[in-house]
Amino acid sequence: MSPSEPGPDPDASLVAEIEQLRRRLDRERSARREAERIAEDATRSSIEDPLTGLANRTLLAANLENELARAARYDRDVALFYLDLDRFKLINDTYGHDAGDELLRGVADALRATMRASDTIGRLGGDEFMVIVSDIGEPDALRLAGRIADAVESITPESTGGIGCRASIGVAMLRGRTDLDPADFVRQADTAMYAAKQAGAGVRLFDDDLLTESDEKRDLRRALPHAISDDELVVHHQPIVDLTSHRVIGFEALTRWRQPDGSLLMPDIFIPTAEESGLIGDVGELVARKAARDLVAWQRRHHDTDAIVAINASPRELDRPGYAHRVTLAAEEAGLHPDKLIVEVTETAIMEAGQVAEDNLRALRSVGIRVALDDFGTGFSSINRLRSNAFDVLKIDRSFVANVADRSDDRAVITAIVALADIFDVKVVAEGIETEAQLDAVTELGCHAAQGRLFAMAAPIDEVAGPLDFV
Ligand code: C2E
Ligand code: MG
Ligand code: MG
Repeated sequence: MSPSEPGPDPDASLVAEIEQLRRRLDRERSARREAERIAEDATRSSIEDPLTGLANRTLLAANLENELARAARYDRDVALFYLDLDRFKLINDTYGHDAGDELLRGVADALRATMRASDTIGRLGGDEFMVIVSDIGEPDALRLAGRIADAVESITPESTGGIGCRASIGVAMLRGRTDLDPADFVRQADTAMYAAKQAGAGVRLFDDDLLTESDEKRDLRRALPHAISDDELVVHHQPIVDLTSHRVIGFEALTRWRQPDGSLLMPDIFIPTAEESGLIGDVGELVARKAARDLVAWQRRHHDTDAIVAINASPRELDRPGYAHRVTLAAEEAGLHPDKLIVEVTETAIMEAGQVAEDNLRALRSVGIRVALDDFGTGFSSINRLRSNAFDVLKIDRSFVANVADRSDDRAVITAIVALADIFDVKVVAEGIETEAQLDAVTELGCHAAQGRLFAMAAPIDEVAGPLDFV
């Protein structure tokens, strides 16, 4: 190359080279940033609940394991909160899923506002949340759980017109144990939550009583299939008395479980287990058959074919396809006219009835079987829903009857229920009449029929009253 020819400017080529290098670096840098972002997103979505941004199950499990290890090393206590919303399904069904989501996000915000940054707050799925609180004693943990319950209760989502819900919170304390499995710790908090929900109490601390309770429950669950196959379930009948004539107009069939020692286990103990284990359908079918047969026997003996029998249906039964058909068959097989059979369903079951339950109710009534609303006054009926769900009888819960003789507010409730029944043209039965004063009061307030200890408790059909025993 001759010096006269202008060669490529070394500076210029250097600049070009640098420029090229810089562009490559930029590209690489942004590619790396993009890769990091993707990795971060992936990590987040694998540990974060997308709806609320709280920890998901995976992160909760990892953090719980860490916390338990740290607690063992530094001798600190750990509290575990298990939170479940009451009536969430109802809100979801009534106002739609967007409203449900808004409420869930509201609960997440309430939890964030109440807890420290070092606590792990997570959502297990559905309407269930969990909080891990380290370095806290029992009194503070209970106070904190109470504050959470208050915060949840004060949430007023716009999409429900301000209707929110309450939380049931189970609290488990580690109490220095180093051998506790994280899964068992969670189970303790869950058991306490379930107990809180059952009791209608906001917060419940786990203690060993609950553990023995669940041991008993486990035994029940194991024995229940035998109760059905070995015919250990017996049906007793409580007379229902007309309040004008004082004649026995029929019975409520109430189930008992005969134990090997001859004692009778009451339904409040084993029906929940039957519901949880899915055996309630078999129990209900058996009871329907026995109740129908018993009533036909009584009708023959007393030459009274007008008498009715009422059986109880739990929400889980009503929710199963074919329930109405099985009950109808039970009456048919016993030779009982369907209009002498009443199915008692709880208010909550009606309020939460899905499509299957509504089909069952309609099918029952289409063959003439009547529907009673049991324990009325204790649930959350909306008058609107009552009208669209046809029923024939209202049974006033005995909690209103208990003090009717001396509490004017309970009298007012019964007066209102009777008025409502008049509008719907249905009959009112007062439950749990124990005294003459209560009998006088419910008669005066316009109830049509009653049952209770004052007349008779439930007994085997051979031992129950005749039609005119209370006249
Ligand atoms: P329930 O349907 O409200 O039945 C009335 C309960 O009140 C019965 O309790 C009855 O024995 C009790 N009782 C009646 N008169 C009096 C009284 O004067 N004073 C008091 N303190 N109590 C009175 P029981 O037999 O223990 O049944 C409890 C609940 O178990 C029933 O409440 C019903 O919901 C459920 N249950 C009973 N049998 C069955 C069944 O076959 N299937 C289902 N799904 N549930 C059942
Ligand atoms: Mg009942
Ligand atoms: Mg009742």
